[in-house]
Amino acid sequence: MAPPPMVDDPGNVKVVVRCRAFVKRETEKGTQCLIRMDPATQKTVLLAPNDSDGNPNTRRVYEDKEFIFDKSFWSHDEADPHYAHQEDVYRSFGEEFLDHNFDGYHTCIFAYGQTGSGKSYTMMGTPDNPGLIPRTCEELFERIQQEPSPSTNYHVHVSYFEVYNEHVRDLLVPRTNPPLYLKIRESQTDGVYVQNLTEAEVKSYADVERLMRVGDMSRTTASTKMNDTSSRSHAVFTIQLKQIQHSLLSDTTIERTARMRLVDLAGSERAKSTEATGQRLKEGGQINKSLTTLGRVIAALADPRRHGNKGRRSRDVVPFRDSVLTWLLKDSLGGNSKTAMVACIAPADYEETLSTLRYADQAK
Ligand code: ADP
Repeated sequence: MAPPPMVDDPGNVKVVVRCRAFVKRETEKGTQCLIRMDPATQKTVLLAPNDSDGNPNTRRVYEDKEFIFDKSFWSHDEADPHYAHQEDVYRSFGEEFLDHNFDGYHTCIFAYGQTGSGKSYTMMGTPDNPGLIPRTCEELFERIQQEPSPSTNYHVHVSYFEVYNEHVRDLLVPRTNPPLYLKIRESQTDGVYVQNLTEAEVKSYADVERLMRVGDMSRTTASTKMNDTSSRSHAVFTIQLKQIQHSLLSDTTIERTARMRLVDLAGSERAKSTEATGQRLKEGGQINKSLTTLGRVIAALADPRRHGNKGRRSRDVVPFRDSVLTWLLKDSLGGNSKTAMVACIAPADYEETLSTLRYADQAK
């Protein structure tokens, strides 16, 4: 079978939205759910909050807004027959993306949304309800173990880093004070890479689980000490799958390397804190820059013509270099790679949700 051509295929970009359940605080307050989703049309509707929310002018200010995405995941009400479980989210593209990795191509999944909208729940999940990262890793090893081909050797490596204020920090090494930031390099052979980043070889899902815990702890420790850094940084979990196939017949070896990038983005509300000064202002600016650049990159890959690249090869004009995150992920975005953006929304926050839905809409 001929390999697919190396072009930015708009079919390789998926934008989905997921609405979370009420958290305890919202249930106790008797909060009104402002989201409706129609599984038949994949339509998501954001309803204008009613007057009982305390602002008599809201009806005049807000209006209902409709959006259509590749998929609308209703994870709000477990009693609803259309409720989207972690498994459903994984099945809708996680599985397809893993097939793509075994074919030797890269994939990227991003979780976007305000802090508290369900990004970590979607990516990492909980021990009882694991999210995309553990499900992907578990299935990866199941596939390797179930189909042992004597002529294929598999090598799996994991790295976990965060990008904070355009600096990269390894989440798999103990945290230092001041933090140790790693340099980004670009070479002809390796493309863009992080120098001295830990790339741990893993032999089983249990190995990956251990590393996920190490990385998550490093993020959480930092956040309690430094006033919630985790919502202000992008966390990038990478699984590298190398397949070495030896053909006895022709005595040749084929090596294929695919990377899966699973990214829990900084809280989108951080991008526009207008009253911020000093360090916060710088942070807000950097987060804004990286989220805006990411949106532009995905939009350009999803539809090169609509985004002003008429008549030119889209990769020439995609603004990868405008932020550290997109620069680092350049090789995993576009071309034959598949990309998914999960826009996570809270059920009762009109302004932030509208901003998330608009962001996701322009990335389509
Ligand atoms: P974020 O990473 O965007 O800051 P979290 O993933 O931490 O948000 O989610 C905030 C809270 O909502 C957590 O308590 C989480 O367990 C809960 N939550 C998020 N998504 C869901 C969901 N789909 N179903 C049930 N609870 C959820």
